[in-house]
Amino acid sequence: GRRPLIAGNWKMNGLKREALALADALLAGAGGAGGRGELLVCPPATLLALVGERLKGSAIHLGAQDCHPKPSGAHTGDIAAPMLADLGCRFVIVGHSERRADHGESDALVKAKAEAARAARLIPILCVGETLAVRDRGDALAVVAAQLAASLPAGADGETLVVAYEPVWAIGTGRTPTTADIGAMHQALRAELKRHMGTEAERTRILYGGSVKGSNAAEILAVPGVDGALVGGASLKADEFLAIAQASR
Ligand code: 13P
Repeated sequence: GRRPLIAGNWKMNGLKREALALADALLAGAGGAGGRGELLVCPPATLLALVGERLKGSAIHLGAQDCHPKPSGAHTGDIAAPMLADLGCRFVIVGHSERRADHGESDALVKAKAEAARAARLIPILCVGETLAVRDRGDALAVVAAQLAASLPAGADGETLVVAYEPVWAIGTGRTPTTADIGAMHQALRAELKRHMGTEAERTRILYGGSVKGSNAAEILAVPGVDGALVGGASLKADEFLAIAQASR
């Protein structure tokens, strides 16, 4: 079956000292954490080299939070996928709702970023999710499936793509969908993946993200079709993140 992936998205948080303390606490706890999940942390770009050095040789993978669609060039302030690979990243988040909102990222741009990630041999974690208005209208399944179809990188297989379902209204709010709603969405997303990737859809991990914490992780990770978690706030606390990891079966 699909091995769960427990990913921490640190977002725009952390200075060097805090980041090293968090990495060290994760390293100290990860061995005894139990759980079947693979662990990943995605620090901000400024900390990738430092945290990557610390995690080198451990079971905790390194990932980034975004990349540019081009491999190099005149794009001041941006970071290309090959640069992330060069730092030891294995994964990169693309299309997070905060980037879609803060930077107006379209599905087409997210698709180009996911393809750039794959070209650099990084695994894109492609984020999709509905707003509260869409959920309340009853359109969540259709809207999120369409978002996935429009941002899916060409040529991906189950080893080179991860999808993350993150309802915008559940991010940082303490609110989560019901387990039935999470299950229905993951089923709809896998059906959409099947249309594009055929049998590879069965090997592709689909994570849930949005207010995951130690106390609700077991329930969420037990939902059929949920192959891990993308964790924001709770990933900044080693004990919370390790508790989530422990809940992965
Ligand atoms: P929270 O876990 O803080 O709700 O954030 C989720 C998220 O956006 C992870 O990418």
